[in-house]
Amino acid sequence: MILTNEHGIPEEFVRAIQNDAYDMGEADFSVTGLVQPPQITRLREKHDDDISIDVSDRIYMLLGTGVHNVLERVNRLLAEEQGMNSSNIAEERFFATHHSGTKISGAIDLLKGDGSMIDYKISTVYTARKPLKLDWEAQLNMYAWLLRQNDLEATKLTIDLVCKDWSKGKAKREAGYPNSPIVSMSVPLWSEERQDRYVDSRVAIHTAEATAPCTNEERWARGGYKAVPGKGKSKKFDSLSEAATWINRHKTGGFTVLDEQPQFIRCESWCEVSDFCPQWKGEKGNAS
Ligand code: SF4
Repeated sequence: MILTNEHGIPEEFVRAIQNDAYDMGEADFSVTGLVQPPQITRLREKHDDDISIDVSDRIYMLLGTGVHNVLERVNRLLAEEQGMNSSNIAEERFFATHHSGTKISGAIDLLKGDGSMIDYKISTVYTARKPLKLDWEAQLNMYAWLLRQNDLEATKLTIDLVCKDWSKGKAKREAGYPNSPIVSMSVPLWSEERQDRYVDSRVAIHTAEATAPCTNEERWARGGYKAVPGKGKSKKFDSLSEAATWINRHKTGGFTVLDEQPQFIRCESWCEVSDFCPQWKGEKGNAS
């Protein structure tokens, strides 16, 4: 991977990004890797020497690492204070072998003695106000699966989301704006059967010979559905369920929902393998 620094970001930030200590241990896949689209993983492996990433696009990851490191220290301090009474597990990597023989690992941010599992994430207020992302729900349930393979039980799943763009002024002015930069999001705990099925499906899709194309959701599709009322202004939504919620709030009148060409935010601006992606390049009409 080639790391560029187009905006002259100070050297210490560049070094911090270069020294990312992430390690999934002796495993074929990490939980986060399995949740990722297989096309991204494969293109990244194939074109690793040619992928160019600017430091500015990695700063948000540095923030995430910083928050995790600080909270890990605090959770360990809390455990020390509680001494023998503490049964919390903080920042520990677990391993399991799937029945296909695939080795999977995942690092749990915090598992409390009562089975509550907390995952820390850094994102934006926009994300906090949207319905829970399906890949986050899947990720936490895959952690619950991993714990189960290690004879531990997750009884409750929560994401503690740090909103990096939170504004005190907007919290005072805007209805529905989070009143704190930390938003706790409850994550549905799936049945064991559903967790098993999901892990099976992700292992299968990541180990299949043919590469599956990315789904609209994986591409962060925006505005793919347009709700058109009989009278008044139409409005675009990212999912059918969001369009339905908006329509149901109106209670009266006829509505039509049209499929629109969505904007693929990840492909346009955030996918580091977009220059090598046949799906994206093909759609833009410039496949090589
Ligand atoms: S460019 Fe888009 S379609 Fe291609 S790998 Fe990236 S996210 Fe998937």
